[in-house]
Amino acid sequence: MLADIAGHLRCPVCRGPVRLGEGALRCERGHSFDVARQGYVSLLAGSRPPGTADTPAMVAARAAFLAAGHYAPLARALAGAVAGLLRDAPPYPLVVDAGTGTGYYLGAVLDAAPQAIGMAFDISKHAVRRAARAHERAGAFVADVWRPLPVADAVADVILNVFAPRNGPEFRRILRPGGALMVVTPAPGHLSPLVEELGLLSVDPDKDRRLAAGLEGFTLESRREVGFDLLLTREDALLVTGMGPSAWHADMSQLKERLAQYPDQLKTRANFYLSSFKAGS
Ligand SMILES: [Zn+2]
Repeated sequence: MLADIAGHLRCPVCRGPVRLGEGALRCERGHSFDVARQGYVSLLAGSRPPGTADTPAMVAARAAFLAAGHYAPLARALAGAVAGLLRDAPPYPLVVDAGTGTGYYLGAVLDAAPQAIGMAFDISKHAVRRAARAHERAGAFVADVWRPLPVADAVADVILNVFAPRNGPEFRRILRPGGALMVVTPAPGHLSPLVEELGLLSVDPDKDRRLAAGLEGFTLESRREVGFDLLLTREDALLVTGMGPSAWHADMSQLKERLAQYPDQLKTRANFYLSSFKAGS
């Protein structure tokens, strides 16, 4: 699979094409990036990952939460939406997941789009190790979504962006004409009333404005709200408040103390926006 995907990659150093051979991706100028034992490739081009990259403990906790199926309705909705977008795409469409985490959502999307291939990018190598096992039709790469992406021009049929940083100019560059950018963000009421009771900040009402501002050159095509009930343990609750964009600003030890006063089955709601953007304004 990596050999097929390599055709859509670019060398992070010189931007030239790369090919898979002898356990590494190599460009014509001799820059070489080893395929790790776990199947992923680091395409960081010498830049050190920032301190904000997820730690092994954070990645493991998130993987366990997702494996328990709490966000499965979101994964299904996203997979259905992307399958719809890809219905008229050319054969073997490419889905690029920018900020993939453990690859959970990309895996669901590829399951629902049997012809598609996937590229998973994340800054955390611990996350990417798991993303490398997310789907047999996906390749996983350590890369910084804030920097130029190691992806060729106009090759992505769909870009996924699920609770992850957005790089508008790069997303425009790698998107094929007619391709779509699918963004998942928390919607008002997400984790309500839990967040209010815990004294956490709710979803920033300015978020929409900032989302539009960060996506210059894109036009919103459609927006759908996906909501469902969640039944969480205290441990889960601690985890979801630390997941996704840093919408919550809380001291974790204080939060633990407050949660200790709650029963171990907390009822709350998950609320998300699925927003589909097209390039052009
Ligand atoms: Zn190169």
